[in-house]
Amino acid sequence: MLVNAKDMLQKAKEGHYAVGQFNINNLEWTKAVLQTAQEQNSPVILGVSEGAGKYMAGFKTVADMVKAMIDELKITVPVAIHLDHGTYDGCMKCIEAGFSSIMFDGSHYPIDENVEKTKELVRICAEKGLSLEAEVGSIGGEEDGVVGMGECADPDECKAIADLGVDMLAAGIGNIHGKYPANWPGLSFETLEAVKNKTGEMPLVLHGGTGIPEDMIKRAISLGVAKINVNTECQLAFADATRKYIEAGKDLEGKGFDPRKLLAPGTAAIKETVKTKMELFGSVGKA
Ligand SMILES: [Zn+2]
Repeated sequence: MLVNAKDMLQKAKEGHYAVGQFNINNLEWTKAVLQTAQEQNSPVILGVSEGAGKYMAGFKTVADMVKAMIDELKITVPVAIHLDHGTYDGCMKCIEAGFSSIMFDGSHYPIDENVEKTKELVRICAEKGLSLEAEVGSIGGEEDGVVGMGECADPDECKAIADLGVDMLAAGIGNIHGKYPANWPGLSFETLEAVKNKTGEMPLVLHGGTGIPEDMIKRAISLGVAKINVNTECQLAFADATRKYIEAGKDLEGKGFDPRKLLAPGTAAIKETVKTKMELFGSVGKA
């Protein structure tokens, strides 16, 4: 069932668990995440970056594929299709294409401009029934080979953006995208607690979920994180399983070259990763 993310995240925040956002890259990815959500009776958010949207031949192709798959696979758990780190233009395109949720990443704008653009999107999303995620304090990661350590958001700026009427807020708390460097100091729970105290009932979003130790994930959930984004971990699991299949020479046996066989171990690995995350986040059985 395609829904926006508002209710599922409010329920998660009240119930002290988190809903996973799993980024999708192709048909196998989408099917793996949807089937796992149904099997685990868990709500789920399918994340689509602008790059992935382009790769999959446009946001409309993605939205139509997801809707058709929900129908054909009889997916009854709540599913949101969400633009990840959208530009203002990207947000407009996804609203048009039929997404149920968007993230406007205005973290690189001065706070006044972030506020202005977020306000405009709050109005449009309310009108069209979409949920909206905003970001304060940029989330680090590898850029041009340099791994940033991840900023910590200003709790007052978080409150200013939260008060505009967004449905979920991503606040930088030292988290980064991609793999974490060995000398990463960990999440700043001090920042998270300050943000939570200022933003009250607002569901908070943790980006860069790959490689954060389990105890930190659980503590973050206890402090108001209701959505956790997972991307790299599924990519690594897919690549690893696919490499093993090829290295074992299985593509050379019989019809092992058939893409339905070649991509099967990677797809199964995504399902396993998603299941493990849903268990960790506590969303199993919460649909
Ligand atoms: Zn992110």
